[in-house]
Amino acid sequence: MTDLLFQNNSYIRQFQSRIKKTITLPNGNVGVVLEHTAFYPEGGGQPSDKGQINGIPVNDVYSEGSDIIHVMSDLPQAVAVEAAIDWSRRFDHMQQHSGQHILSATCHELFGAATVGFHLGAQSSQIDLDLPGFTDEQMNAAEQLSNEMLYGNKAVRIHQATQATLHEYPLRKQPAKDFAAIRLIEIEGIDCCPCGGTHVAATGEIGMIKIRSWERKNNAIRLDFVCGYRALADYQYKNLLIKELSGRLSAPGPQLLSTLDKLFNKADETNRQLAAARQELNVQLAGNLYRQTEPEKGIKIIVYQLLNSSPADVAGLAKQLVSSPATVALLAGVADDNSKVHLVFSCSPDLTINMGPILKAALPLIEGKGGGNGSSAQGGGSSIKHTADALELARQAVIQLL
Ligand SMILES: [Zn+2]
Repeated sequence: MTDLLFQNNSYIRQFQSRIKKTITLPNGNVGVVLEHTAFYPEGGGQPSDKGQINGIPVNDVYSEGSDIIHVMSDLPQAVAVEAAIDWSRRFDHMQQHSGQHILSATCHELFGAATVGFHLGAQSSQIDLDLPGFTDEQMNAAEQLSNEMLYGNKAVRIHQATQATLHEYPLRKQPAKDFAAIRLIEIEGIDCCPCGGTHVAATGEIGMIKIRSWERKNNAIRLDFVCGYRALADYQYKNLLIKELSGRLSAPGPQLLSTLDKLFNKADETNRQLAAARQELNVQLAGNLYRQTEPEKGIKIIVYQLLNSSPADVAGLAKQLVSSPATVALLAGVADDNSKVHLVFSCSPDLTINMGPILKAALPLIEGKGGGNGSSAQGGGSSIKHTADALELARQAVIQLL
């Protein structure tokens, strides 16, 4: 059985030990079991520590029975080893995990909510609360009270309880199963619950708890939060973001939203004007195309390619063209960057030409997909070099049907 140094002291960063045994693991890795270790193995929602043993990286740590397995790519050459955990990673986990206990205690006190899940992630952490609903106001209240508990700088203590002494502790959460001895984490005057994780010694070390968002998840309310240096990094990032946005929009922070509203309104107005101008242009263009096209057996088959256009532009022009009777529009629109082409084949309502099969025959030439039936069909493709061939093929197909 490995002696677990982190259970009584989360602040042991370096230690000496002896290799008790080694095991071969997949992918060329080796598992090292020490007589005692300060490395925390993954468990209870908290990821494992990393670090090094005799200068060789420890990439993962897990428990197997009563052993703690240190996953390494190489085996240390000596039995007596010097080990060091990655302290910034460990302290980060301590801040998040102790912060979680406080947040859970707060939600229990304010809303009577039990914490039914905890995950300490690489970017942020989550707790799941057994609650039917939640509000932003509740989120703010939980955040406020949690931070007040930090600034009280309360002691965080580790206890070992037995069945006989368990009643002496004001537990928020009962142990999950029968036990001979159980480790408890007590936050003075705030919380006490069974936990095997690593924790700070006083709540002030958590620095700050920030709830970033909440959502309904699997019949629970999930809070996403960051503590300590993660909260600082989150604030730094958001401060930078606001500064950048302010610079680009030439507006101080408090005016960002109203400035954005003005911009969106202006963009909407511009789009409306553009649509009107496009419609006018379509009327002019449709008139010109109609006049220039000689009829075939009394039907005007108008073939045209629009450059720098969107599918909506092509469809708009087709609609305008087939508003004249006895007209077939075979149009292609090529995107701004020449990366795609969009075909629209339409006929006026007085004609009984089924445009679907005609489009289907033309689509392979543009490596495209699409569909439609009756008087209109459209589709897009990624190859523009045979656009003219696709239109000519469609023109011949229409002529065959006349
Ligand atoms: Zn815990």
